[in-house]
Amino acid sequence: MLNFALGPVMSSDLVLDIGSKQTPYFRTPEFSKVNLENEQLMKELLHASDDSRAIFLTGSGTAGMEATVMNVFNENDKVLIVNGGGFGQRFVDLCNLHNIDCDEIKLEFGHCLTHEKLYEYDGKEYTAFLLNICETSSGVYYDINLISEFCKKNNLFLVIDAVSSFLADDLNMVEHGVDVVLTGSQKALACPPGIAIIVLSEDAIKRVEENDCKSMYFDFEDMLINGVRGQTPFTPAITVILQLNARLKQLKNDGGIDEEIKRISSLAEDFRNKITEFPFEVKCKCLSNAVTTVHSNEKIEANIVEILKNEYDIWVSTARDDLSETMLFRVGHMGDLSPEDNDTLIEALRDIQKRGLF
Ligand SMILES: *Cc1c(COP(=O)(O)O)cnc(C)c1O
Repeated sequence: MLNFALGPVMSSDLVLDIGSKQTPYFRTPEFSKVNLENEQLMKELLHASDDSRAIFLTGSGTAGMEATVMNVFNENDKVLIVNGGGFGQRFVDLCNLHNIDCDEIKLEFGHCLTHEKLYEYDGKEYTAFLLNICETSSGVYYDINLISEFCKKNNLFLVIDAVSSFLADDLNMVEHGVDVVLTGSQKALACPPGIAIIVLSEDAIKRVEENDCKSMYFDFEDMLINGVRGQTPFTPAITVILQLNARLKQLKNDGGIDEEIKRISSLAEDFRNKITEFPFEVKCKCLSNAVTTVHSNEKIEANIVEILKNEYDIWVSTARDDLSETMLFRVGHMGDLSPEDNDTLIEALRDIQKRGLF
């Protein structure tokens, strides 16, 4: 099986081996050490300040999104949300559900965030800015430098969902003035799903402490207190935490985040070059390194995603055809993939083309 889906992704043998072991008991000094190490490694990878903290929440990425909305915002906030697709809409829905006042910068699906569009919202009464830095449904990456500058100028508390972008695109919490970054175990971290990671700046920690979170399981303050001794309030996805530990250490030893970003971006570039031989189109000019969304201007009857899965044992992600009429499929570049794996996918597409299916 070869997996180019947008999470879960291919894991290394190191991570797979840990998954085959018995799950250890977790109220131990040994497991506390693992948690403390993971916190430190995540802070390093995101260039977070020394006083920032990382939370490892058992749940999928959306648990991290919802818990963040519940813990860092309150009724005094007015949040500006970039809504360019499925995940932006999820933040709008979450703010509405939790009675957080918000406005959305509604972007056409697959379109970049421009300076002109963003500065329509300059000098207004907002307190915070919320976005998915890679909108995985379209593959669009929003320019971090543009956003960072805007938020600094308007003194906005900046919350970034980098679930699919972390390790694929550049992100520096201190330099870019980011207050919260969230990600998940099953994207470029290349572990099984189960852990959402939320990194909080000092200002974010202050917000958490001052807020009254109406949830027992999602209470960040409780998690931060327990985290000081390397523990969690409730049973975590222990095996995934052990897998993350191995993966994070490996990333650090292999040259850190810059090397991984370089590796993923060169895989993306390689794939985008190779796909040009087909009657497909990579339309978007601001794609994240994590994903390539492939379009076709002709109507193709064959379901390429299904054919690849059933007949070639290759998995790609389905298109959001409810949001785009021309999108065929999405190809991820995260995880344990190589340029040779790109060749295998291209070969399979050639074969499907030879069979006259597109
Ligand atoms: C994958 C992803 C998530 C999390 O989705 P889950 O299915 O809840 O893990 C959140 N935001 C973005 C941008 C994503 O790509």
